[in-house]
Amino acid sequence: MNTTVSRETEILYVGSEPQLPVERPETPPIYPSTANIISDMDDYDRANKGEKYYYCRTANPNRDGVAQAVSYLEHGEQSLVCSSGMAAISTTILSLVKAGDHIITSNAIYGETIELFDRIVKKFGVEVTYVDLTDPDAVEQAVQKNTRLIYTEIITNPLIRIIDIDAITRIAHKAGALVVVDSTFTTPFAICPLDHGADIVVHSMTKYFGGHSDITAGCITGPKELMKKIYSDYLLFGGCLDPQSSWLLLRSIRTMEMRVTRQFANARALAEALQADPHVRYVNYPTLSNHPQHKLAETLLPHGCGAMLSFRVEDDRQKVNEFMHRLKVVKYLGTLGGYRTTIAHPATAFRFDFTPQQLRDMGMEEGLIRISSGIESTEDLIADFKQALSVFDTVK
Ligand SMILES: *Cc1c(COP(=O)(O)O)cnc(C)c1O
Repeated sequence: MNTTVSRETEILYVGSEPQLPVERPETPPIYPSTANIISDMDDYDRANKGEKYYYCRTANPNRDGVAQAVSYLEHGEQSLVCSSGMAAISTTILSLVKAGDHIITSNAIYGETIELFDRIVKKFGVEVTYVDLTDPDAVEQAVQKNTRLIYTEIITNPLIRIIDIDAITRIAHKAGALVVVDSTFTTPFAICPLDHGADIVVHSMTKYFGGHSDITAGCITGPKELMKKIYSDYLLFGGCLDPQSSWLLLRSIRTMEMRVTRQFANARALAEALQADPHVRYVNYPTLSNHPQHKLAETLLPHGCGAMLSFRVEDDRQKVNEFMHRLKVVKYLGTLGGYRTTIAHPATAFRFDFTPQQLRDMGMEEGLIRISSGIESTEDLIADFKQALSVFDTVK
């Protein structure tokens, strides 16, 4: 600053400015600053018009970098980057509906999104109907005069069924409703929902975009006009991603295509190997040639139907536990989309929310195991599952 101020003042300024020109760093810098210094009222007016960065929740260069990358990958005009997938989902839905509107969705979507509809969205006087979104006729029949939004995922969890997004967008647009797609399981390397007529696409970036199980984030992408409306509410809900995580996330996105391509290939190889294993009753992965949705998988998801699959073994809690203990490479984890292969047990995840009968009705049998495939060597993965599956030998 200058030498006439005291030590306690000078120390607040010294060292803030780079000592040499910072020219073309190979990676972008992190801008952790929550605010930027404003020179005068004219300068503040510029900031208010969105011509410069001035407050982190409003805009931040690192977050904007991620938003640009997401818009590029999703073939969208604009994106917002949020502090979690749920921040992206809640911001989008609450911004697009008002009291008296009607939403159509399914109960095979992400559990906490269902809770958002039931506990929060309904509280504001919005009607929600749950239908089987894999059945376009059921969707058509559920349409009402006040249907404003159809909310869907493309691959259901944990049964890995495909939802025909082309059919859904046709029905929605005929009814004058918007389509919001949570494409977390598919990623833009399997499908770009906006190309199929979706109005908004959201992701939990905690999964494949982050890819290393160390970032919690989400995003919303769509046309300028709709995004402008969502942005004004996003500012008030406050679910923006911090600069450090944004920086790390952009780094992850650089290698996303390589990771995801390998993960898809491993999922397919695992699906085939498990299907051939005598201890496995069935495998849910629509790319398999004997799957009832194989044709739809080929036309809608020609690059592979993602890195998620599930399979069913004997419904024996003790043996399934022992199977988990025997796995050496693969770990049991409460998330998905990371670089390492993980399994989850859907019936356990929902045991406190549903009765055993309800769980069975939803296809979540005790012997159902979900896999999120990683980037390990395919041979190691298959070998690990095979040796652990021998715990079910006695049922053959
Ligand atoms: C994880 C997940 C979410 C929620 O994302 P968070 O980042 O945990 O908030 C939403 N939808 C799907 C499909 C998910 O897998």
